[in-house]
Amino acid sequence: MVRVRFAPSPTGPLHIGGVRTALYNYLFARQNGGKMILRIEDTDQTRFVPGAEQYIIEALDWLGIKFDEGVHLGGPFGPYRQSDRKPMYRQYAEQLIRDGWAYYAFDKPEALEAKRKEYEAEKKTFQYDCNTRLQMENSLSLGMEEAQRRIDAGEPYVVRFKFPDNIDITVHDMIRGDVTMNSRLLDDKVLFKSDGMPTYHLANIVDDHTMEITHVIRGEEWLPSAPLHVMLYKAFGWEDTMPRFAHLPLLLKPEGNGKLSKRDGDRLGFPVFPLEWHDPKSGEISSGYREKGYLPQAVVNMLALMGWNPGTEQEIMSMDELIKLFNVEHISKNGAKFNLDKAKWFQHEYFQMLSDEEVADHLEAQLKEHGISADRAYIVKVAGMMKERITFPSELWDTCCYFFQAPTEYNEKDVAKRWTPDMHIHMAKVIEILNTVPFEHDAIHKALLDDYIAANGLNTGKVMNSLRIAVVGRTVGPDMITLILMLGKDETIRRVERAIEKLKIES
Ligand code: GLU
Repeated sequence: MVRVRFAPSPTGPLHIGGVRTALYNYLFARQNGGKMILRIEDTDQTRFVPGAEQYIIEALDWLGIKFDEGVHLGGPFGPYRQSDRKPMYRQYAEQLIRDGWAYYAFDKPEALEAKRKEYEAEKKTFQYDCNTRLQMENSLSLGMEEAQRRIDAGEPYVVRFKFPDNIDITVHDMIRGDVTMNSRLLDDKVLFKSDGMPTYHLANIVDDHTMEITHVIRGEEWLPSAPLHVMLYKAFGWEDTMPRFAHLPLLLKPEGNGKLSKRDGDRLGFPVFPLEWHDPKSGEISSGYREKGYLPQAVVNMLALMGWNPGTEQEIMSMDELIKLFNVEHISKNGAKFNLDKAKWFQHEYFQMLSDEEVADHLEAQLKEHGISADRAYIVKVAGMMKERITFPSELWDTCCYFFQAPTEYNEKDVAKRWTPDMHIHMAKVIEILNTVPFEHDAIHKALLDDYIAANGLNTGKVMNSLRIAVVGRTVGPDMITLILMLGKDETIRRVERAIEKLKIES
């Protein structure tokens, strides 16, 4: 039974890199008929940010990334928040000490800092490891009895992992193959603190084990920690059930150099967070895909392809298709560059998949905001006609407003270019035609374009664009006669009359 977890720390809004990690876990779980778990890793209380946990839950829910167990759902392996699991970690730290895999350390921050400086002066880097640990204040250098005496006296301590000297540790990564590191390169990481809180490393391994996690799919930034994690499984005697690891490639800046950061988003004007985030301390607001009008399906599809491909050229894939097609073998080892144009392309594609009714819902809401009410069938018709020009719902009003209200001003540049002094004569003729010929496409087309414009040797572009200025306010919009038919005879005539009056006075 496959069991995977997404294990964010509630230190702020969830970066889209984190969203992609959650998505890949979800696709993997669903594909294998397994379970997806949301665990909150909040052991570092100094970095705790109020609201972040709720944000994570809301963001993943918006994107359709669903969980089977988790902090918000409960489940048979709970609690799912590490601070709520606090009492269970001490026994594991003590087990490691008993078995010789860890030790108590009493070094004060100043002592550690002094050591670092001492090494720096010799152009070396201090590492708390097998070469240095006996020079430090810990239960190995002081003896267990002295250590116990200090603990009983209430002296603060930490528990550190004791890496064996000079062994090669191999992590079998599903994406990268075997990654081997020598223990001499690794420092004796802190696992537990005397306040009873484990660090990330201990809590993560204990939880993955006790929650029966089978696969750990997470960002590449955790690869350097993986040898320690493998050693911890060994030290606990849990090697047989150790999860399989897959470290995902980084999401890179659009230029390709370095990890995608919040600052890149600010600089280039795209969100790096799924939802808008209001920082509770600074009050700073960071933009979100949801509030920018992106559709969750578009964001999911775009993220799925950042670091993975289905092995074909197919780009548009629904969540169900992704679940079918996803495979770890096609996850790239290289970082994936963020591409804003591609994000917009996905959004445009998914916007086109909305029904006319759904687009009309957005349009109707915007009309309301402008104090306009209109016939629903008409709104749906406009939505269907105009949606191919739209990428974000917020563009609807500006793109469609002239279907619902006459222009209040006329684009100066367009007027200067098209509206020549003789134009009021031609526009008066348009009114006459509309008043006399049957109000249908072919009749208007023939009367206007053939019998009037062409027969009199007039410039079609100039006359038709002037008509457009009169009706729309600028030279944009759908086919002119279609638009006239949509607006109706009376409304069109009113707009043309108004333009004749306004533009004559102004010119
Ligand atoms: N809490 C870690 C994070 O915030 C989880 C890393 C892991 O998945 O092991 O990314």
